[in-house]
This record gives sequence, C-alpha cells and structure tokens, in this order.
Amino acid sequence: MIVSRSSSLRDRVAAGILEVAATVLAERGEAASMADVADTAGVGRATLYRYFPSREALLRALADVALDDLGERIESATVIWAAGMRAAPLTAQIPAERDNFGRLIVDRDLRVPSVPGVFATGDAARAACDDLGNYALMSCQHATRMGAFAGNNAAAELMGVPTKPYHQKAYATCLDLGAAGAIFTRGWDRKVELVGAAAKKTKQDINTVWIYPPRAERAAALASADPEHVTDL
Ligand SMILES: Cc1cc2nc3c(=O)[nH]c(=O)nc-3n(C[C@H](O)[C@H](O)[C@H](O)COP(=O)(O)OP(=O)(O)OC[C@H]3O[C@@H](n4cnc5c(N)ncnc54)[C@H](O)[C@@H]3O)c2cc1C
Repeated sequence: MIVSRSSSLRDRVAAGILEVAATVLAERGEAASMADVADTAGVGRATLYRYFPSREALLRALADVALDDLGERIESATVIWAAGMRAAPLTAQIPAERDNFGRLIVDRDLRVPSVPGVFATGDAARAACDDLGNYALMSCQHATRMGAFAGNNAAAELMGVPTKPYHQKAYATCLDLGAAGAIFTRGWDRKVELVGAAAKKTKQDINTVWIYPPRAERAAALASADPEHVTDL
C-alpha cells in the first residue's frame, strides 16, 4: 500500500490511481494511455487529469513511488539499461510467427511469409543478415539498412519487378565511455579496432552523420534509400 491511514482522501485517491497505472503500464507498456488508466481505475478522465495533469506527470509520480518503495537512491552520471528490448505492440496484430522479442519472422526479402502484402523491418523483424547464422539486432545500423530493403522490395512487389534480398555483412559496435572516450569494435566477434579519442570521434560521426536523416532534397533522399549503400560499413 502506498499511503498510510492518516493520509487525506486526496492522497488515497492519488495512490489508488498510481497502483492501477502501474498495473496498466506493466501490462500494456508504452501503448497505455491516460484513458486506459482512467477506465481501469474506474474514474472519469477529468478526475484523472485533476490529479495528474499529463501523462508525464503520472509517470513522474510513479517513478517517485518506486524510489520511495526502494528506500534508496544512487546518484550516477551514467545509467546502463539492461532490461532487454521488445518489438512494438503493432507486431502482435499480424497473425504470423514471432520470436521471443515479439519480432516477426521474415524471409530474405523481409516479407512476412504467411501474410500476403506484409513486409516487416527494423526492430519489428527477425531477419537473417547472411547465410552464416547471423541475424539483425534491434539496432540503428540494422534498422536503417533493412528499412531501405523493405521499402525497395514492397515497391518491387507492387511493380512486378525483381526484389533485392536483404543482406548485411558488416557489423560494428561503438560504445561511448564518457570521459574515457569510446570503444569501437568490428565483426560479430567484436574485435577492438579503436579506443579513446579516435573511437569517440567515430561515435560522434555515427550519431550526427551516419544515422542522420538525409537532406530534404530529392536527390539526397533517393540516394539515402538505395539499399545497397545504406549503412554499408
Ligand atoms: C534508449 C535507446 C537507445 C538506443 N541506442 C542505440 C544505439 O546507441 N545504437 C543503436 O544501434 N541502436 C540503439 N537503439 C536502438 C535503435 O534506436 C532501434 O533499433 C531503431 O530505432 C529501430 O528502428 P525502427 O525504424 O525499426 O523503429 P523505431 O525507430 O522505433 O521507429 C518506429 C516508429 O513507428 C512508430 N509507430 C509504432 N507503432 C505505430 C503505429 N501503430 N502507427 C504508427 N506509427 C507507429 C513509432 O512511434 C516510431 O516512430 C537504442 C534504442 C533505445 C530505446
């Protein structure tokens, strides 16, 4: 229970709403809305907004409760989130096979085999990168390239022209280490290629140039959508 007996009615209602919100968010994740919380809590939306004027305010209050329950707070400059990843809930609407992350199993053209006309890409797809048993990770470098192949192949299917099977040979990781610079590795076995300031410069280039959207010009946009050249490391 979040509040004591001596709490005011207002505190008790707020605590009740927060308990319901915690359950709704745990069950529905990001997709949970203020309306879902109000409906499940059995209060009107106006009442909910009187207690928590926005979704952010509700989430902040939930975080405060979690910290109170925990009883301690560790100040830190860097937090590493290691709770795992999950494909968007939208994938659950496609009646097809999914992996443990909720990603749709796709063929080499990034097509969902059992559902005509549906392609999946990026974090929503489990796709083979090569014939060696490597599969795309939920990462920018895979999502950007897969997106170009999926778009190309969806258009190719509509136009009745040959598709281009998705393939992505290179794999790299670049981890920012704050004041210590960064570390850049290449290959699925993560062979270290750069450390310190040189790796940090690469990380900055990745975030500001490599994965950045193209200029708002026709030629730049089309060039950036060429599957064979997107994220070609
Ligand atoms: C905190 C964080 C840090 C990360 N850091 C890195 C990193 O350093 N390096 C790296 O490689 N990767 C990183 N990733 C992973 C990377 O961001 C993802 O792999 C990548 O963005 C996936 O691209 P995507 O296009 O598949 O999906 P997204 O980028 O998630 O795009 C999906 C889009 O679809 C929209 N959408 C969802 N449902 C619907 C719907 N029903 N109707 C309409 N639109 C909808 C979403 O709002 C979103 O805009 C990070 C991810 C997170 C969360």
